[in-house]
Amino acid sequence: MAVKNVLTYGTPALREPSKEVHKVSRKITDLVQDLLETMYAKNGVGLAAPQIGVNYRVFVIDVSSNDEPLKPIVFINPKIIKKSGACISNEGCLSFPEAYTDVRRYKNVMVKALDINGRSFTIDAKDGSLLARAIQHEFDHLNGILFIDHCVNRFEADTVLQKYNLPPVDADRLIDEPELEAELKND
Ligand code: ZN
Repeated sequence: MAVKNVLTYGTPALREPSKEVHKVSRKITDLVQDLLETMYAKNGVGLAAPQIGVNYRVFVIDVSSNDEPLKPIVFINPKIIKKSGACISNEGCLSFPEAYTDVRRYKNVMVKALDINGRSFTIDAKDGSLLARAIQHEFDHLNGILFIDHCVNRFEADTVLQKYNLPPVDADRLIDEPELEAELKND
């Protein structure tokens, strides 16, 4: 297993939808190890397989703080089965070194996935927690969606991207989120 190179924004593989995992084989458990090692080496909160150039529906998250024991969560073939509420989340991504911007997210998400042993589990992440936001961020990667596609202010996002020598926001990829916008206005 190894720390892998993380693809940066502008690499086409980041925009490709990922394939379902049919069997949690050795190939997949090795992939999970690589994802975890790479995420920890780069101090990330989450990492999705397409970010290391493997287009399978797998991601890992660890929202534990530095003074806590590691608490990795492995998601294989995740499905978001419920979502509600809205919040603004200041996010970054290991594929966008140092660039952060505000994005719209659901506050609560319920996700169902398989763990490393191929067993099904469900997580109910609430209240705009780091976990709730990370799940949405990583899940998007499996569909070729990137956090800047949810940006609240395209001008601001472009300014940040330019500062870190990354390509600008892709206007054709911006996601219309009327339900989230309506919820945010009501708050
Ligand atoms: Zn990311």
